[in-house]
Amino acid sequence: MRVAVVGGAGYIGSHAAKALAIAGHEPLVVDNLSTGHREAVQWGPLHEADIRDRDGMRTLFTSLRPEAVMHFAASAYVGDSMRAPLAYYDNNVAGTLSLVEAAHHSGCAAFVLSSSCATYGVPSTLPITEETPQSPTNPYGETKLACERLLHWTGVGHGLNWMALRYFNAAGADPDGDLGEMHDPEPHLIPIAIRAAAGTGTPLKVMGTDYPTPDGTALRDYVHVSDLAHAHVLALEHLARGGASRAANLGTGQPHSVREVMRTVERVVGRPVPYELAPRRPGDPPELWADSSLARSLLGWQPRHTELETMVAGTWAWERRSRR
Ligand code: NAD
Repeated sequence: MRVAVVGGAGYIGSHAAKALAIAGHEPLVVDNLSTGHREAVQWGPLHEADIRDRDGMRTLFTSLRPEAVMHFAASAYVGDSMRAPLAYYDNNVAGTLSLVEAAHHSGCAAFVLSSSCATYGVPSTLPITEETPQSPTNPYGETKLACERLLHWTGVGHGLNWMALRYFNAAGADPDGDLGEMHDPEPHLIPIAIRAAAGTGTPLKVMGTDYPTPDGTALRDYVHVSDLAHAHVLALEHLARGGASRAANLGTGQPHSVREVMRTVERVVGRPVPYELAPRRPGDPPELWADSSLARSLLGWQPRHTELETMVAGTWAWERRSRR
């Protein structure tokens, strides 16, 4: 299939473009390079464009004629979204509307959205299943939920086939060393802790040590970026077979605390992680971890890199390679 990989110059999208190419599909990357990188686009052409440009998107999709879309392009930082909600609605909701319109107009049949565990807010029960009520606690999560609803109603009204993949915390790097995380500033715990240990970053801020968890720090479900990428290919193939449109969680179901991540980084890097204690971040739930049995049964998804140590070691290898 010819697949528009929108946001394919970013962390997860670039891994998905590689997974698509390996599976025999044709990735066409669309990205405005706002947080992505030209050098991450290695498995197909790059079309530089902003998804909010409605006319531009229609023209581009009419000429590309993709059979499917994978939509990774978004502003994706919870804290930022609290400070700049309108910018988040603009990029994530208005951008997705423009993209879905272009996809529909050009006759594209299948759409896979990057959604997030942030749509659940603070869950009342764990693990989180797709039936857990969605009640976001920040604008980022709200915009992702709005995108899911937009796809739902476009499916009902216009017959678009879609899947919303709700990732938990993406982590790790391409096992071949071709790709990795390159955010600036870096918002994610594992690379921040690695840089703190390696002396290339500032001390890690441990935000909250009084959560009702075994060691007082927050628990999260880390899922390998290559496993996420593979799930996208499976979702596309599911839709191409006529499979039902729906949302699915992607996580390993094994929660790890901030302190556990720090200990793993210390083992892998071989140095202590300098850190400072800080208060909880408003809206951060104590625990988030997934029940991904739906993705496993519906898509045949089988995450392969489930050990935290593997994810940390991959990020550490990528850090060393990209700093040479
Ligand atoms: P990223 O910032 O690395 O990638 C996003 C890409 O989209 C970048 O290449 C950026 O240049 C592009 N982009 C942003 N706005 C655009 C626009 N208006 N027009 C065109 N291109 C645009 O982010 P990521 O970590 O790879 O996340 C990808 C997706 O996954 C996002 O939708 C994010 O919300 C979602 N997600 C990420 C995580 C995670 O842990 N990283 C977890 C859950 C969901």
